[in-house]
Amino acid sequence: MTEEREPIRVGVLGARGRMGIEVCRAVEAADDMELVAMVDQGDWLFNASDAGAQVLVDFTNPDVVMDHVHWAVDQGLNIVVGTSGFTESRIERIRSWLNLKPEVGVMIAPNFAIGAVLMMEFAARAARFFPSVEIIEMHHPSKVDAPSGTAMRTAAIVSQARTAAGMGAMPDATKDEMVGARGTEADGVRIHSVRASGLVAHQEVLFGTAGETLTIRHDSYERASFMPGVLMAVRAILDRPGLTIGLDSLLS
Ligand code: NAD
Repeated sequence: MTEEREPIRVGVLGARGRMGIEVCRAVEAADDMELVAMVDQGDWLFNASDAGAQVLVDFTNPDVVMDHVHWAVDQGLNIVVGTSGFTESRIERIRSWLNLKPEVGVMIAPNFAIGAVLMMEFAARAARFFPSVEIIEMHHPSKVDAPSGTAMRTAAIVSQARTAAGMGAMPDATKDEMVGARGTEADGVRIHSVRASGLVAHQEVLFGTAGETLTIRHDSYERASFMPGVLMAVRAILDRPGLTIGLDSLLS
């Protein structure tokens, strides 16, 4: 006889936001999960712990997410975070909180769409063959931060692959530039951010070498595209204490 596992009790932070609404729907539709708390701005975070949540899912905004992660770790609650804005120094702070609570799981994923994770993996593979690479990320105009977390993560991964392959600076003769014309730079990689109505979340990684280019592109047309990854992370986090960055480690 197989042992029935109790449903995972999930609390959603940012539950009234675009992503939060979708996460609540997905959790409610999952047989092995129970939605026990929906928390949004102005609500008491303790609603989630009082309701017995085992895993929190955070899709709020970069200004408040660190407080949420700190609170969750303090309370001994696992947390899956999709909110963007994670710099290296923020990650280091989370590591220091987890040192005191090593049994807690924190997962931070800049992109929960499985296609986007594969886009980053393919970009890392291509990086060493192309002296030029630039990232163009395109999002809906309500997004408050730029560049996107996915673009920043892609830049970091591509840059690591370039360094490992001993590649030098990219060819670029620009001397005279109107501010912003060449985008911004993260880990030595140019990122261009486009905001336009009708878009959801899209990214191209454009590689170039003599006589050829390669474009790796991913499109999320609906927020539903992120849900299989979010549910995968909620299931996995119970057995993954400590910090996990990116969904890629779960896919392999
Ligand atoms: P949104 O503005 O629609 O939703 C954010 C919600 O958080 C709002 O309902 C807001 O009221 C709520 N909120 C604000 N402060 C709060 C607080 N202190 N406590 C609780 N709730 C609070 O934004 P969105 O489009 O749903 O995106 C949310 C975040 O997720 C953004 O940072 C976005 O970049 C990111 N995102 C990540 C992925 C991914 O795959 N990782 C995908 C899409 C969006």
